Amino acid sequence: MPPLAFERASDASDAVRRFAEAGPGAHYLAGGTTMVDLMKLGAVEPQRLVELLDLRAEHAAVIAAEEGASIGALATMAEVAAHPGIRAGWTAVTEALDQSASPQIRHAATIGGNLLQRTRCSYFRDAVSPCNKRRPGSGCAAIAGGRTRDLAVLGTSAHCIANYPGDLAVALVALDATISVLGAGGGWRSVALEDLYLTPGERPDRDTALAPGELILAVHLPRREWDRSVYVKVRDRESYAFGLASAAVAIQTEGGRVADLRIALGGLAARPWRCRRAEDAARGRAVDPALAAELAALCMGGADADAARAFKIELGRRLVERALIEVVGPLP
Ligand code: SF4
Repeated sequence: MPPLAFERASDASDAVRRFAEAGPGAHYLAGGTTMVDLMKLGAVEPQRLVELLDLRAEHAAVIAAEEGASIGALATMAEVAAHPGIRAGWTAVTEALDQSASPQIRHAATIGGNLLQRTRCSYFRDAVSPCNKRRPGSGCAAIAGGRTRDLAVLGTSAHCIANYPGDLAVALVALDATISVLGAGGGWRSVALEDLYLTPGERPDRDTALAPGELILAVHLPRREWDRSVYVKVRDRESYAFGLASAAVAIQTEGGRVADLRIALGGLAARPWRCRRAEDAARGRAVDPALAAELAALCMGGADADAARAFKIELGRRLVERALIEVVGPLP
């Protein structure tokens, strides 16, 4: 095993300072449920780990207030899932968390770490196959004829077809979440969560728009008068499995017609995927099976797949239909 230095940051300023001093090869470590896995596999080889758990004293609170919710990035997934204010105001968030990973992992994994989880592409994780995400310029074993069944059908490039595997970010993107980020120089910035995630283009090694050393410290959810929000997920087994496809949908109606609608997809795309064309097309119309089918087709517009994952296009379409029918409740 290569040499590895381990440091425990006392607070957020100390963490970004230590990261900046360490230079290339530094990584943050919080709950460890992703990073330790990747280290064991050899897919990531940090030279220095800056451990963040002491930041929980200041950055793990979950607050649901009239104007919105604030979630500390060091809160665990289980703490957020159990919060009654989040469950009441942002149901899709709770449902996404409840369907993520396992209870043991949800009690250890932090919100910030969950948002930054890496793809489950098996070639990325095996540490030896050609993989532009792990080793830029080495090629893509999946595109070259590998196992692609689980990978993306939207937002891919000629250099990478990996999908974003998480659940929580999909619900948060649907609900217009923003994040607070502390930079290496001590400056703060606010980023729309949707803008955090990058499509691979020619640089699959860049998953996010974070600069080196930037640290997510909070997630913010605006209060909106959603009638209802839901998160639905299809996977190969009913628990402890990543989604083949998932959808977060939130709806606000006036007189039975859509005043506002949000649809975001998971498991199907290179990043949490907002379906803006479908959202716009729904405005002023009543959701019924015909409209649900029309919106679902719009969501999957532009999808592209080889034979192994062509089923995901139809799966995504049916999943969006189901989520739309579920979010409006029983039809008359
Ligand atoms: Fe790597 Fe992306 Fe290709 Fe998977 S799909 S092998 S992550 S470049």
